[in-house]
Amino acid sequence: MHADALIDLRSDTVTKPTPGMLKAMMAAEVGDDVLGDDPAVLALQEKVADLLGKEAGLFLPSGTMANQVAIRTHTEPGDELIMEATGHTFLYETGAMAGLCGVQASLIAGTRGLITAAQVKSAIRPRQTYVPPTKLVILENTHNHGGGTLYDLDEIKNISALCKDHGLALHLDGARLWNACIATGLAPKEYALHFDSVSVCLSKGLGAPVGSVIVGSQSWIDRAKRFRKMFGGGMRQAGFLAAAGIYALDHQFARLADDHAHARRLSEGLSRIPGVIAEPEHVQTNIVFFGLRGKPASWLSDELKKRGVLLFPLRHEEVRAVTHMGLSGQQIDRVIQIMQDLAS
Ligand SMILES: *Cc1c(COP(=O)(O)O)cnc(C)c1O
Repeated sequence: MHADALIDLRSDTVTKPTPGMLKAMMAAEVGDDVLGDDPAVLALQEKVADLLGKEAGLFLPSGTMANQVAIRTHTEPGDELIMEATGHTFLYETGAMAGLCGVQASLIAGTRGLITAAQVKSAIRPRQTYVPPTKLVILENTHNHGGGTLYDLDEIKNISALCKDHGLALHLDGARLWNACIATGLAPKEYALHFDSVSVCLSKGLGAPVGSVIVGSQSWIDRAKRFRKMFGGGMRQAGFLAAAGIYALDHQFARLADDHAHARRLSEGLSRIPGVIAEPEHVQTNIVFFGLRGKPASWLSDELKKRGVLLFPLRHEEVRAVTHMGLSGQQIDRVIQIMQDLAS
């Protein structure tokens, strides 16, 4: 099948650079970022730190490295962190929190990926010599495995206050924080205010080819810089990539609203087909879970693949579809049509 005929719903990471972005990349003024003198990287770091209201930022090659460098910077080996059981940093980062950071996770069962201050409170360890010291809490917004779900800002405030009371750091895995901002109308800094550190992805819905940024206080970023280098993330003329991130923030941020509209359209269309599992009431951003009642998700993803639709079977009976800038409304309608055929 020709690549153009494929409808790729595997992830919002499959987007390719737009002509405007490629032009911006080619025009980047670069230096050696390990030596600290790549102007485009410095500009991106400052831009993201400003957007998130923090003192400093650090550019990294991936969201995984961004989160793991953040975890390593907040902790020492043997420490414990608290997070939701299906969170990306635990489930999808290859065991790096154990393998690279030497920390263990105390996992909380969330509701669609979201946890409460009361749950966090009950997971904080007493300070005793024979228990692991709790050092860090991680929230994920929007929550990937939970289905692109959104935290209530009041819950974030409660968790943040709890962390302050107990001397715990609070990190936000904000790979899709941009989607949360578009969905709620809140500015990135209105979320970031309540966290010690935030990681954001440029290579998901924003459409840059590579890159994530972590932000925090200047002293925290100074410490993070050492771990970025230790984890192999010190890049040289990285400004070509940073320029793509700057372009993405300037030109491809507001259009995330289209992705959310496509996700709603997909879920609502699917919910009208008898035998199809779809919950449009839980589609808040650009992620849609759906299935065919009685069929394993792997069967459904195979059948859809034969018909030119790519996605991942992430739950027992449900596949995950992620909308992004490479999709048209017509393609969304085509997926609904194919599901109608499969269901009948
Ligand atoms: C994609 C993602 C990341 C980072 O993924 P990379 O593929 O390493 O860039 C981190 N957190 C969440 C919630 C994600 O969805």
